[in-house]
Amino acid sequence: MRRHRNVKIVATLGPASNTYDMIRKLHEAGADVFRLNMSHGSHDEIRERHAMIREVERDLDRPIAILADLQGPKLRVATFKLGSEELEEGQDFRLDLDPTEGNKTRVCLPHPEIFAALEEGSHLLVNDGKIRLKVKSCGKDFAECEVITGGTISNRKGVNVPDVVLPVAALSDKDRKDLEFVCALGVDWLALSFVQRPEDVIDARKLAGGRAAILSKIEKPSAVKVFDEILKVSDGIMVARGDLGVELPVQAVPPIQKQLVRKCRAVAKPVIVATQMLESMIESPMPTRAEVSDVATAIYEGADAIMLSAESAAGSYPVEAVTTMDNVAIEVEGDPTYREVIEASRSGTRNTVADGIVAAAREIAETTDIKAICCFTQSGTTAALTARERPRVPIIAMTSLRGTARRMAMTWGVNCVMTGELERFKQAVLNAARAARAQGYATEADQIVVTAGVPFNIPGTTNILRVAPCEERLIFASDPE
Ligand code: ATP
Ligand code: MG
Ligand code: MG
Repeated sequence: MRRHRNVKIVATLGPASNTYDMIRKLHEAGADVFRLNMSHGSHDEIRERHAMIREVERDLDRPIAILADLQGPKLRVATFKLGSEELEEGQDFRLDLDPTEGNKTRVCLPHPEIFAALEEGSHLLVNDGKIRLKVKSCGKDFAECEVITGGTISNRKGVNVPDVVLPVAALSDKDRKDLEFVCALGVDWLALSFVQRPEDVIDARKLAGGRAAILSKIEKPSAVKVFDEILKVSDGIMVARGDLGVELPVQAVPPIQKQLVRKCRAVAKPVIVATQMLESMIESPMPTRAEVSDVATAIYEGADAIMLSAESAAGSYPVEAVTTMDNVAIEVEGDPTYREVIEASRSGTRNTVADGIVAAAREIAETTDIKAICCFTQSGTTAALTARERPRVPIIAMTSLRGTARRMAMTWGVNCVMTGELERFKQAVLNAARAARAQGYATEADQIVVTAGVPFNIPGTTNILRVAPCEERLIFASDPE
């Protein structure tokens, strides 16, 4: 079951995608990475979902990445007696510290620090800014608000207070507990919400202790300001447009998305474009034209991955949403303009032997009739550098480390294949040719490019490039040891 596109799809799991069958269907429809949002669901629920993903991975024998998204210092309302309520424009709505479940006139906002910072006239934005409240009066444990823009408010919706600076730590106590829990469970990526400084990333990395790669969610204006420093200490980036579009004017988001995607591509670190990509598909089997265009834009920009949030977690059409992304990706990547745009935006800085080898691999593959670039990689770096080239031919990353194979599921164009420990280069070529044939990329009559670092067990050495036949007899006859 090979993919016919390079951009990867991240699907958030939730009540709408809680079964083995649904997770399997989402993966078959195109989801390469599953996101577990630690803001929703108990540790038991997370553990069950995690086990189901690993079961699908085992049954289909394809590496799947799991991304655990830590809530971070996000403010959220508590729950409602009925689960949700309609707020009408002009009505009053009270936020307080009373733990009783909410109704149409009030709900608990369990963050005393907000009430201390609010003032008359402050604006509160709920659910990625869909509902707008204005404070009429407030005290140390309540805020009486007028509903400026109404809408449906439901359990645990996020609240932003853009006018007010809140004194909050990057990792809450809950985040630390969640981090330890998911790292012990075994996740491939750890997403940090509301990163503001490089130190936030460094702290989380210490706690993770190498058990997961670190992805910084960019959703605060302060993070955009020091993005270059944050990128340096992160393994990947998410352009988290939900909160970003609330904390900054919405029109600031598209230019930031473009800049961030380009910077991540330049340093070969994966970047996800997230939030509201197919929002209308929460309730409708058909996306709007504007949403399709938004998904297409992220792909034309060369993002590594595009993400579904509520569409796959809580919507009525999770599989259709993944299929829509898959279809849009196939169409866009088949457009000659896509190649032009991707090539024009390729980064030119190359400093190392590995940079040179991956660039040469692409050149050779595109100049002659080569069916795939197979790279042997331990840390994943060579595969990431190959992907940075955004070649026209498929990339097959061969690794003996399952963690690397899973992590690379988020990187543009990389198909991961597990291979045994290698000692001889000839064995590597044989394995690469077998993988290319088994995955349907090449036949016995074809040629592939193989890159590797010899000796095999020293990480960070990429020093061989070989144009190899796919027929075993020819490999045996021609290849050096
Ligand atoms: P974040 O800021 O981390 O994106 P979010 O609340 O926006 O948090 P998403 O994962 O983006 O969460 O999902 C969007 C919506 O889908 C949520 O607001 C929630 O209503 C619903 N949802 C997602 N996951 C779950 C879940 N596991 N349980 C219940 N509802 C969920
Ligand atoms: Mg968010
Ligand atoms: Mg969200």
